[in-house]
Parts: sequence; C-alpha cells; structure tokens
Amino acid sequence: MSADRIPVMIPWLGEEEARAASDAVLSGWVAQGPRVAAFERAFAERVGAEHAIAVSSCTTALHLALVALGIGPGDEVVVPSLSFIATANAVRYVGAEPVFADVDPATGNLTAATVDAVRFPRTKAVLVVHQGGVPADVHSLRAACAEWGLPLVEDAACAIGSTVGGKPVGQDALIAAWSFHPRKLVTTGEGGMITTDDAEWAARLRRLREHGMNSSAAERHSSSKPVLESYLEVGYNYRMTDVQAAIGLVQLGKLDAMIARRRELAARYDELLRDVPGLTPVRDPEHGQSNFQSYWVLLAEDFPVGRDDLLAALAEAGISARRGIMASHLEPAYEGRPGVPLPATERISRDSLILPLFHTLTEAQQDRVVEALREQARR
Ligand SMILES: *Cc1c(COP(=O)(O)O)cnc(C)c1O
Repeated sequence: MSADRIPVMIPWLGEEEARAASDAVLSGWVAQGPRVAAFERAFAERVGAEHAIAVSSCTTALHLALVALGIGPGDEVVVPSLSFIATANAVRYVGAEPVFADVDPATGNLTAATVDAVRFPRTKAVLVVHQGGVPADVHSLRAACAEWGLPLVEDAACAIGSTVGGKPVGQDALIAAWSFHPRKLVTTGEGGMITTDDAEWAARLRRLREHGMNSSAAERHSSSKPVLESYLEVGYNYRMTDVQAAIGLVQLGKLDAMIARRRELAARYDELLRDVPGLTPVRDPEHGQSNFQSYWVLLAEDFPVGRDDLLAALAEAGISARRGIMASHLEPAYEGRPGVPLPATERISRDSLILPLFHTLTEAQQDRVVEALREQARR
C-alpha cells in the first residue's frame, strides 16, 4: 500500500474524541451510563425527535424497531433491495419476510409507487432507507402509508443531518434507526440509535435493549435503596457503552462542519466531472438535501470500461473507490425468493461506484480521482 493511497472514507476523529474516551475510562463507568443518557438527549435534539434510545448498532436498532411495531412470523415488510443487507436481515430477525421493492433511479430510494407495486395482504410495514444520505421523499411515503394503514420505519443509518423539506431527516418519523459505524458521518466505532416521538415505545425499547429489565443498571446504581429488578419480557443485550457515547457526543458537535465540508467537496466533484463523459453523479433530490455520506456516480451503458474494471484501474492508480450500493436480492442469503423485477436496483448496483469523500480529502487528491476517471472515460 503506497503512502499516497486515497481511501474511500476516513472518520474525522481527533484529540477531543480521544480525551472524551479517556475521561469515560477514568471515571470508572464504562458500560451504559450517564454519557449514553447525555448522548441520547443531544441526538434527540439534533434530529428533532422526542426520544432517542442508544443501542449497539443500526442493525440492532432496526431489529428492535420491528419488535416494537409487533412485526412477526407470517408478516411481510416492504424493503428496498438496494441497501446494505442489514436492512433486509432485520426483517428476518423477527421471523417476517422482506419483500423487495424497486427504487427511483435518480435517488436510489423507495417511492410510494414502487412500494405500491409489492403491497400484498400480508404486508404489515414499510421500511424505507435514506440511501447514502439522499433523503427519501418521506412526505409522500408517509401520506401513502397512512392511507394504506401501514407503519413507515426509516433506516436513516447514513442520513444524520440530511434534510427533507428543510427539516432534519428523522423529525416526525414514526420510528427511525441510525448508525455510528465509521463509514457513516458520526461514528462511535460501532453503535446505533432509535428515535421516535412515542413515549411508550421508547420505554419498551429501553427495556428491550437491556434484557427486558424494568430498571436500568444506572437507575439501580444511583438508588440508595436496593432495587430488585424484574424481567418483563425476553429482551436482548443491545446496549451502547459510555466510552462510545463519550466519543459520539464530541462527534455530534462536529456534525455541521462535517456536512458543510462534504457538501463542498461534492459540489467540487460535480464541477470537475461535468466534462467527463458517461458519468452521472448522485445529487440532491427536489425535496431535500443530502449529507453526501456517499458520493456515487452512475456509469452510462456505453462507458468504455465496465464498473469492476474501472474500480481495478482506480485501485491501480492508488485510489480506493467502492462498488455502489448492493442489491440484497442478488446475494446468496436471499436467493430463490419470489419477487418482482427490480430494473433500477440492478442497474444502479451494477453500474455505480462510490468515490473517495471524507472530511480531510484535499483538492489535490480529488483532482487525482477525477484525472483517473477521465483517463478511463477516454479509452
Ligand atoms: C450501515 C448501514 C446499516 C448497518 O449499520 P450498522 O450500524 O453497521 O449495523 C444499515 N442500513 C444501512 C442503509 C446502512 O448503510
């Protein structure tokens, strides 16, 4: 690996996060405690939700969201195939079946029309993804779901700080799941969050992440009297630690700067790629703004090299790009399931790639990426 290799993503972490983690360790409270509670309050405020429940990942957040909705065996949940596979897997965890819907070719997201095409009598919920940070058109989806009597769950793993109609993604969501994996903007190493305005769901989700216990370890610790806990239902250990939350609090404070920088770099890519033929970059939809968690370009059908050869050529030039968002229905784990044709999903997953974009990416590095693409476009 040469020293000047350009990675696809590097988290923006520094001394401040290191100090916060160190303080948490030295406090002696390293499991879920006061820092998790503070992170939850700050996060709820940032996305405009009443309640935020920290968990161990977005995958576990999605699992618990579906448990809270009462989804189970015999039920179907409409999901995009064009997503990280955890979206579909969460439906399987509760014993239900994911039914794959196609996406809008411009945004990579579900629409009311693509959902309607796979809505059947056993459909019990819709799970929409704000893919790569591009906000889904939740206003029309919420209206359609209200009409159909279906709850809308939002997989906002990539979309912290993206906006819809001028409001943060997550605001007014029935229930939304978030990720703090290093490939997303705000990171805690591993970690996730659930947000909702529903107080009863929030209370149950807090129990479910902690073995179904009716009182948290933090409550028992701070009580002067002995507290005898009881276990109200079968729960899980999906907790976040205070070390992670300490990092998350610092990261959240840097979110506006992260988004501003990513949007600036995305605009510069747009400008530089304008005269490279055969590449269509992802852009803001009419209904909102992306945080550009992923900056992907779609190759024209007649681009001189295939996507995988293009990735190899970039790697040769010391540039780590990635294949675009995967199509879950094409993976062995989902083989042999009946479904409708998903042409937009297959086209995007086959012919798109994600370019390097991170807070400390320099203009010189960005120029190198564009030059390498231009060279391939001319072949
Ligand atoms: C990253 C991602 C997930 C999984 O997040 P984890 O925190 O790693 O579990 C789920 N859905 C989408 C759309 C993602 O991008």
